[in-house]
Amino acid sequence: MAYHPFKDHASWKMLIGGELVPGSAGAPLEVMNPATGEVLGQAPSASESDVADAVAAAEGAFASWRWTLPEKRGEMLYEIARRIRAHFDELVDLETWENGKPRAQSARDVTNAERTFRFYAGASDKFYGHTVLDAPDEMRKIVYEPYGVVAVIIPWNWPPMHTADFSALALATGNTVVLKPAPETPLSSLRIAELAADVLPPGVLNVVTGGVETGVQLVAHPGIDFIAFTGSDRTGEKILTEAAKRILPSMMELGGKNASVIFPDADVDKAVAGMLRSAYFNSGQACSGSERVLVHESVYAAFMERFTSAVAGMVVGEGFDERATVGPMVTKRQQEKVQGALERATAAGARVPARAEVPTAGRLKGGFWIPPTVITEAAPDAEIMTEEVFGPVAGVIPFKDEDEAVSIANAVDFGLTAGVWTRDLAIAHRMATRIEAGVVSVNRVNTGELGLPFGGYKRSGVGRKKDFLEAMRSFSRVKAIQMALPE
Ligand code: NAD
Repeated sequence: MAYHPFKDHASWKMLIGGELVPGSAGAPLEVMNPATGEVLGQAPSASESDVADAVAAAEGAFASWRWTLPEKRGEMLYEIARRIRAHFDELVDLETWENGKPRAQSARDVTNAERTFRFYAGASDKFYGHTVLDAPDEMRKIVYEPYGVVAVIIPWNWPPMHTADFSALALATGNTVVLKPAPETPLSSLRIAELAADVLPPGVLNVVTGGVETGVQLVAHPGIDFIAFTGSDRTGEKILTEAAKRILPSMMELGGKNASVIFPDADVDKAVAGMLRSAYFNSGQACSGSERVLVHESVYAAFMERFTSAVAGMVVGEGFDERATVGPMVTKRQQEKVQGALERATAAGARVPARAEVPTAGRLKGGFWIPPTVITEAAPDAEIMTEEVFGPVAGVIPFKDEDEAVSIANAVDFGLTAGVWTRDLAIAHRMATRIEAGVVSVNRVNTGELGLPFGGYKRSGVGRKKDFLEAMRSFSRVKAIQMALPE
């Protein structure tokens, strides 16, 4: 029997200054079951004074956290990882309820959250400064210092992993955190905060739940020293505009319109399996997924035959149904957004050679379903081929040669990930060099590996996470110290 977030958990509270507190805003957040469209229950909603209390708590905790021995900080992050593992099944069920994704995909996400805390636990005491020149009478060194209070604002697509990635990184580098999860999926973050509450000193990690308004209040708060944002490029632009007024440093992990390019010598079966994973995992609500599939014209027919039949056969259903590999959209709004993009694409002449079935009867009738869909014959500069859809939709485009593939792949405003499928090392190398994206994967799907820097070019963002050096430096300010020594 699955753990139920409202039957098996007494009441949901935010974490402020080490205390679990109810939100003091008027209306609580409604947590929905995306597979049925029903309300599951209510979560707290932060008022402006809750946000101010959380920032004050994080400011107060910073003075001692920044000087806590990195090894000690690491031990606490390990303990949080251990507790996530100890509550694994419960967290997997929680995410499946609030986000709707298949349980196996939630399990991967919770595992990623655990591994991220473990990774940055180990990183915290291995991050050093440098000595530039050590002369007998002068010392010059470079040190990395934490910024102070980091506002972490995250979306709803991988709630446990997003809770972990910037928070663990910020804490490992000696910063304190005020985290705001997405209003659609607040419970995973609240539960992880609850598990961490008596591990960390009070105020080191704070979680406030709410919607856009809470995010705006957090960004505007003068006590914030750094903003770490994951979400859409449009929201990123608004936050950067606010940050610019205070010259506030920030990290932006934004959207994508990623291309995978399949060459004639590729293993077509592997490429098909890769595209099923890349375009439809998490119902296509993945910033790193391939919404554009570029296929060389000589293998186009062979690829399409296998791809369309595999997509048409995908099993869509609720996350607790073990046969389902694709779940619902997270919200009615997201469902309507994707539906609208599909309607405009077909009205503009795109074809739909394959579409899976979705549940239409019984208790799942009201779920936020969008069938896994293949689109063809859309112009490379059509909206469906240039704007992020963030749903289970792959647009397939034939190409003639390498130059054309590069020019189509790069002809969008985004540059998060890209895929190249070929056995030819020279093609793989040239494509990886020429494609404008922060992560390029060859003959495999990007799955956001820990240890590799993750982040985007162009409107896909600024800064890197998930690795050691780039990420740790992104969350630190650099100080140069030069010291003439007494004779
Ligand atoms: P969104 O930008 O609407 O919201 C993200 C978060 O920002 C939410 O917590 C929201 O409440 C908050 N927010 C919204 N407006 C705000 C404002 N003006 N000030 C402060 N906070 C505000 O994004 P979404 O629809 O929740 O998520 C989907 C987007 O996230 C997609 O574009 C996707 O590509 C992107 N994403 C990027 C990555 C990455 O690592 N690059 C990962 C996952 C998702």
